[in-house]
Amino acid sequence: MESRAINFGAGPSALPTSVLQEATKGLLNFKGTASEFTAYLQSVEQNIRKLLDVQPTHSILFTQGGGTTQFSAVVLNMLARHRLLHPQLKDEDRVLDYVVTGSWSKKAAEEARRMGGSTVNIAADSRKYSKDQKSFDNIPTADAYSFSNDPALIYYCANETVDGVEFSAEENSPASFPFQLLPKNALLPLVGDYSSSFMSRPIPHLSDHAIIYAGAQKNVGPAGLTILIVRNDCIVDVDAATRLGATSVPICLSYKTLADHNSLFNTPPVLSIYITGLVLEYMLQLGGLDYYADLTNRKSRKVYDALKDGENKGIFKSKVKEGSGSQMNVVFDVLGEGLLAKFVAGAEERGMKGLKGHRSVGGIRVSIYNAVTEEETDQLISYMEQFAGQHEVIKE
Ligand code: PMP
Repeated sequence: MESRAINFGAGPSALPTSVLQEATKGLLNFKGTASEFTAYLQSVEQNIRKLLDVQPTHSILFTQGGGTTQFSAVVLNMLARHRLLHPQLKDEDRVLDYVVTGSWSKKAAEEARRMGGSTVNIAADSRKYSKDQKSFDNIPTADAYSFSNDPALIYYCANETVDGVEFSAEENSPASFPFQLLPKNALLPLVGDYSSSFMSRPIPHLSDHAIIYAGAQKNVGPAGLTILIVRNDCIVDVDAATRLGATSVPICLSYKTLADHNSLFNTPPVLSIYITGLVLEYMLQLGGLDYYADLTNRKSRKVYDALKDGENKGIFKSKVKEGSGSQMNVVFDVLGEGLLAKFVAGAEERGMKGLKGHRSVGGIRVSIYNAVTEEETDQLISYMEQFAGQHEVIKE
């Protein structure tokens, strides 16, 4: 096979080569039949359950529309649930708590506000703790949060794809999500956007979540499929809520519609589901999320080490505070006139693509999703080391 580019882009991202080879065969002849799709979808669900250890308390639903559609859908479904639980409350007394740590959670909070019918409370805003009071460069410590009493939802984004900050998976890290501050005795309305770190490692406190969602297109498949893990008490009769005054929910956004029809209420994104199924099988063969958590740790540690080395040589500068950095998207600046463009051009010449940071923040963003191999990451590391060596700023 001809040599392929190494895709360090933030998404849609790389897929394992063996999966792509298998998919080309399956496109021509899918298990000798055309009618096995329902069974296939069930096997995809089972494999997600196995990989993430999802208990029967939670349903797995498949839909379309990406994370962005879920920004609206989580609000509608969780406000419907809140209405059924507390029919008498005035709209403005229904509170949605948003933890804002980057541009994606900011967008989600803006969508909640745009939709109206409730009060949006910013439970934490990491910019207050940043170097210049306006950057998303950190995951705040526990004292930064103020959660409401009985909110309809509590929202956070596990990994901020643009800004390169991520909640830690270590229970005792200052950068882990403050689960300990949430009420202990209630069914928590906790919503996690896992779009860009889904299946990179186990999800801390998965069973405490009301909703976890992710587009397939970073770690597990091509674009087109959105995966939802919804606790069963959050699959509510949205029409009954509407009769009590809640906003009516478009039929394909209602989790109950998806659940009642085994995610086949309307035509599913079959190609994306097919390839996602192959990726999940492949992940299980390699050892599941224990394997991927180790791989993720190793790859990201190597990139952060090379970044640190470049910082010591005065050529790179991390955009985020130590300890808050994402294991999926590593963001940094290249210092010195014209050197950012030179770094990107040199990488492209070596077949490494997609390294330019998001246009809103600039710099470099290295996305090391599951299908970027350790060897490919090593190639980038040697290039970073070589580049830093050549452009080292010699201190007097
Ligand atoms: N949340 C996060 C963390 C993301 O990275 C993205 C997209 N990259 C989205 C939400 C939006 O997802 P989509 O493009 O699938 O709508």
